[in-house]
Amino acid sequence: MSLLFAIALSCVFVTSQVMAEEGEVVSYDGFQVWKIQPSSGEDQQFILNIIALFDLELLSESRLARDPMDVLVPPRSQTKLKFKLAERNEISYVVVISNLQTAIDNQKTSPNRITSNSKAAYNMDWISYHRLIDIYDFMTYMNKTYPKLVQLTKIGTSYENRPLFVLRISNSSSPGTRPAIWIDGGIHAREWISPAVATYIIQQLVEVPANAKLLANVDWYIMPVMNPDGYEYTHTTDRLWRKTRSMSSTSSCRGVDANRNFGYKWGGLGTSTDPCADIYRGPKAFSEPETLATSNFISSKKNQINLYVTLHSYGQYALLPYGYDVVYPPDYNDILALAKDATSKFVKYKYTVGNTAAVLYAASGVSSDWAKSIGIRYSYGFEMPDKGFNGFILPPSDILPVCQDFFPAFEVFANKVATCCSAATTTTAKPLTSTTRPATTTKPLTTTRPATTTKPKPTTTTSKRTTTKCSCICG
Ligand SMILES: [Zn+2]
Repeated sequence: MSLLFAIALSCVFVTSQVMAEEGEVVSYDGFQVWKIQPSSGEDQQFILNIIALFDLELLSESRLARDPMDVLVPPRSQTKLKFKLAERNEISYVVVISNLQTAIDNQKTSPNRITSNSKAAYNMDWISYHRLIDIYDFMTYMNKTYPKLVQLTKIGTSYENRPLFVLRISNSSSPGTRPAIWIDGGIHAREWISPAVATYIIQQLVEVPANAKLLANVDWYIMPVMNPDGYEYTHTTDRLWRKTRSMSSTSSCRGVDANRNFGYKWGGLGTSTDPCADIYRGPKAFSEPETLATSNFISSKKNQINLYVTLHSYGQYALLPYGYDVVYPPDYNDILALAKDATSKFVKYKYTVGNTAAVLYAASGVSSDWAKSIGIRYSYGFEMPDKGFNGFILPPSDILPVCQDFFPAFEVFANKVATCCSAATTTTAKPLTSTTRPATTTKPLTTTRPATTTKPKPTTTTSKRTTTKCSCICG
């Protein structure tokens, strides 16, 4: 990465933020999403400069210079952007969402859902997106209906006092002693496909007899919504909200990026000290009750949990440690081999597999790095579909196909976890012998970037919003 690119990228990462006034619903009427295609590193740099100049929001980011860049473009910037991009003939673009608010409205829960599902035992389904109450009622139902198999645990409360729920699924006579898999979703509020997939996994493990084999030797801990305050806020107020909802002592901007708030390499690359930024790391590691409760719970099970999965969107990536920089753990090849095996099961959606910072971008204080750091051998972040043609606003009709395509990966994971590591044993990573990658590799990217990317940008407003917009990042 060139120094110029690094500086531009750091500017893009931080900027302003949409904030609804109390009681106001944020409208994205007229907003468009453009998929801009650079053909070189110079093009990428040019686009990043424009994004910073026009105070736009970058919805997707990649290290790879020829990967497309998804940009949220408010009505006021559409003509300006069109002319600016025309300055470089080799840059092409397509408007993938012509009116974001229309797409948001179309994504909302179908009014026919309750009618169509009226005979079901719970309101959850995977043909529509659901409010938190449906998800929590579903989890409660699972616990009450299958008490020998499913245990519901409240591990804490959110900033706004919503319960933080984890389901344990185990058919063991002594649950909590076998190798286990952890799955969480909904760290980032706007990534609605994530809780949908997590709840689908619960339903499949508990209610589908053919999947009993996945329970034979493995316990499961599943937390579909780690950030319930943010999730509800995306339903009521701002569909593109990402962070928690905690208040700052130094700013009127609310929320912390929970996936920059974990206590490993906290505050490094790909984070911001600006409370208005979408990648605000918080005042300290584990400042958020959501990340603190989750980390405490996982830590208490760390000798049992051998595989950590965190579900995000979008982009179709399977992301491996580490994210804080292009650094590979000693057992990277082992982690990579399992990820490739798991993703080879996918038919409809293909995922890019690799080191987080290498294939996507550097991000410090992420949960998957932290999980690896405490000794969980296999740690993965998945960016679910799609690749940006709908982005966060994935249509409800895509939920079930995404879930069905993804679920077979867990048979691979369960088989590995059942045999790889004995429970109640410290799972310190053991380096593999490899000729393809050094035991620990740090590519010299750190010298080209600032330690933190914290450059507050001036507030801007739109006619529809009293707020400022954060150019930030997906995933
Ligand atoms: Zn995310």
